[in-house]
Amino acid sequence: MLLPGPIQDLVNAFSRLPGIGPKTASRLTFYLLRSNDDLAGDLAEALQNLKSGTTYCQNCFNITTAGRSECEICASDDRDAGIICVVEEPLDVLALERTGAFPGRYHVLHGALSPIEGIGPDDLRIRELLDRLRSGEVKEVILATNPSMEGDYTAAYLQQQIRPLGVRITRLARGLPVGGDLEYADQNTLLRALAGRQDMSQE
Ligand SMILES: [Zn+2]
Repeated sequence: MLLPGPIQDLVNAFSRLPGIGPKTASRLTFYLLRSNDDLAGDLAEALQNLKSGTTYCQNCFNITTAGRSECEICASDDRDAGIICVVEEPLDVLALERTGAFPGRYHVLHGALSPIEGIGPDDLRIRELLDRLRSGEVKEVILATNPSMEGDYTAAYLQQQIRPLGVRITRLARGLPVGGDLEYADQNTLLRALAGRQDMSQE
């Protein structure tokens, strides 16, 4: 079927999203076309603001509202600046925050090391993490990268880099679904992983 250009454009755009195949992309597009309320308008506005309305925290590189230099967690006096939890993605911060059990601050790497995909230390926020640790304020770093090959590799690399700095290093306990993402782990599993974290300072 030959579709009018604007429809095909939206189908193509939806198809580029993770987890959305051509069928779902067409279904969503025609749903928007049919909908009587201003769903398409609301969606367009939200998409416009998505990038322009957000920025990265200059301290931990979590997502925050545009115009702020620090995210709410870094700006809060209630959070322990002595513990940093290192995660791969902003969604992992959300997952850990949902447990309500982590008193410290975060550092978002924005990915994991992957020699296969050519992602090296300079592609992640690793230098910024080491700079934070050198400030002397931090007593413990929890390596909360995903329980995957890349996540484990990244944790091992960070361990090597952090050890000379004399900061206590821990890793989330096993029990998280292997190969899965932290963001999909349920609250209880994350709570257990956090409570049972293992010391990696020596070896
Ligand atoms: Zn922050």
